[in-house]
Amino acid sequence: MKTPRWILFFIKVKADCGHITRLYDKIKSFDSKGKQHRIGMTITTEKPKLCHRCFEKKAVIRCALCGGSIFPGDFITLVSIEKDSVPKYAVPYGERFIVCSRRACCNNGGLFCGRWTSDGEIDSLV
Ligand SMILES: [Zn+2]
Ligand SMILES: [Zn+2]
Repeated sequence: MKTPRWILFFIKVKADCGHITRLYDKIKSFDSKGKQHRIGMTITTEKPKLCHRCFEKKAVIRCALCGGSIFPGDFITLVSIEKDSVPKYAVPYGERFIVCSRRACCNNGGLFCGRWTSDGEIDSLV
């Protein structure tokens, strides 16, 4: 049986980042129009690497083109962007920038596809 969310909200664990976190809490997320939302995230291990706050800061990045959130496990593409039009939150990877797999972004001359991981690395699929 799955533990109900309201119980997870009251269970606290210590994450490797050093912070105490609830097993269920909300984190910030941006949609492809750059609008901010709060979404629920359940931690499924007693020994998480990151608390919710560190997760939303370190593991979740934003697409350099649309500004939408990219979560660990999401497909990403690397594109070259004119320096003048690079937003502050864009994440560089080598000479290029990370964009999401939403159609409008990954069709933009992307060169490489992989998956974003929670360690801030890219898992290559090719
Ligand atoms: Zn933390
Ligand atoms: Zn995008």
